Amino acid sequence: MSNTLRVTVWGENVHDNNNATVKAIYPQGMHSCIAAFLNQAGGIKARTAVLQDHEHGLTDEVLDNTDVLTWWGHCAHGQVSDAVVDRIQRRVLAGMGLIVLHSGHHSKIFKRLMGHNCDLTWREAGEKERLWVVNPAHPICAGLPATNFEIEHEEMYGEPFGIPNPDELVFVSWFQGGEVFRSGATWRRGAGKVFYFRPGHETYPTYHQPLVQQVIINGVRWARPDGAFAWGCPNIKPEMAREKVTVWGGSVH
Ligand code: ZN
Repeated sequence: MSNTLRVTVWGENVHDNNNATVKAIYPQGMHSCIAAFLNQAGGIKARTAVLQDHEHGLTDEVLDNTDVLTWWGHCAHGQVSDAVVDRIQRRVLAGMGLIVLHSGHHSKIFKRLMGHNCDLTWREAGEKERLWVVNPAHPICAGLPATNFEIEHEEMYGEPFGIPNPDELVFVSWFQGGEVFRSGATWRRGAGKVFYFRPGHETYPTYHQPLVQQVIINGVRWARPDGAFAWGCPNIKPEMAREKVTVWGGSVH
C-alpha cells in the first residue's frame, strides 16, 4: 500500500443542484468542496463519487482502491442501491474506514453498520452550535482548541440519538436552544473504523470552516486501515489435524 491515503468523497448531489442557497455556497457541490480541502491537506488523494453515477460511483474497483470513504446524504437515502450498501459494508468489515457526515445518520449504510435506527431530534433555526472537545488526546482532535469551538449557524440535532454506545466519544455539541448531542463518535466494525461527525447542514457554509475541515482531515487519517481481513466462512479440519497453521492477517507458515 502506498503512503498516500486514498479517499473517496461520496455526495448525494441533489440539494447541490436543486437549491439556489446550496448552489451559492457550494457551486461545485458539497462533495467537491470536501474533496478539495482533503487534497490540500497533504498525503491525501481524494476523488468524488455521486448518487447519479453508475453504481453511485462505488464499483468494486473504486472501493477496492479506497482506504477511507466519506458519506453525505439527506433526501435520497432510499435511492441508494442495496447491492452497493452490501458492498460498502463488506469493505468496512474488511478494513476500509468510513466517515459519516451530518444527515448521513439516516443513510442505509450507517443504519446497517450501527444495527440501530439512528433517529434523533432536529430543528432548523440557524442556531449557534458549540462543539465541546471531550476527548482532547484523540487523533481526531489534533490541532483543535483545547476546550471547544463554535459554528455560528447550524441546524440543531438533539438527543436521544439512536446509536449503539460509541467506542469513543470525541465531541458533544451544545445548541443555542439548549439541547446537547453526541456529535462526534467512533466505532470499530470488523477490521474497519467508523467516525460519525454531525455538522454540515447544506444551507450553511459549514464545510468552508477551517476547524470543521480539520476534524474531517483528522477523521480520514484516523480511519486509515491499520489491518485488513478477508472474512469468510470456511469448513475446516480440526486444528490439531492440520499441518499448516494459518495466522490471522494472511501469512501461512
Ligand atoms: Zn441538515
